[in-house]
Amino acid sequence: MKDNFVIAIDGHSSCGKSTVAKDLAKHLGIAYIDTGAMYRSVTLYALRHGMLADGGRLDEKRLLDSLNDINITFCFNPDEKKNEAYLNGENVENEIRTMPVSRNVSVVSAVADVRKAMVLQQQHMADSRSVVLDGRDIGTVVFPNADLKIFMTASAEIRARRRFDELKAKGDNVDYDEILRNVRQRDEMDTNRAESPLRMADDALLLDNGNMTMQQQFDWIMNALRQRGLVE
Ligand code: C5P
Repeated sequence: MKDNFVIAIDGHSSCGKSTVAKDLAKHLGIAYIDTGAMYRSVTLYALRHGMLADGGRLDEKRLLDSLNDINITFCFNPDEKKNEAYLNGENVENEIRTMPVSRNVSVVSAVADVRKAMVLQQQHMADSRSVVLDGRDIGTVVFPNADLKIFMTASAEIRARRRFDELKAKGDNVDYDEILRNVRQRDEMDTNRAESPLRMADDALLLDNGNMTMQQQFDWIMNALRQRGLVE
């Protein structure tokens, strides 16, 4: 196995990037960084501090003035066997996945200075170790020299169904049509924003997982890693 390598997984909302990234990290014994959780945590901070009304205007200046007060970390939860996001020391893993945050995160993630701050933190978190990161701009901006770049997608309907099942299983009272609208809206905003829009890097591999099982996706990526000589 190569000493330190970076796997960049980008793609549309809710297509299972984080699930496969977590499985890879566990299997390879490397770190996993959920960059979406970072933008979600900043959004939660802005909502809680009245800088952003649900569906309303973002007070960009106040948010940028507060960036130094927003500390995002990840900590492994041995019971859940996964990394969880902490905002200024508080576990926000569940709250950042709720609809108010999903509805507003694309407004916050479109702000150039928010992105600059997050990208620096992500690059720093990956210092001198092997990592797998998932997001929208990992292969294009955060790690343009990543050892393996994957662009994941599936139809909006399949992705909305998966997210619906996931939230339902957690006991959330959710509406499929609202989730589908949200998935489409985030695709639209993430793809068309001026700053680091979601796009497939020229040297990324396309993985449409609409008709694949989790195991098939995992094997597909492991195969790509082997072909590059990154794992045995
Ligand atoms: O991956 P997830 O769906 O949790 O990401 C939430 C939102 O964060 C995305 O819709 C996008 O607006 C933003 N994001 C981003 N760049 C990343 C990761 C996420 O803009 N690297």
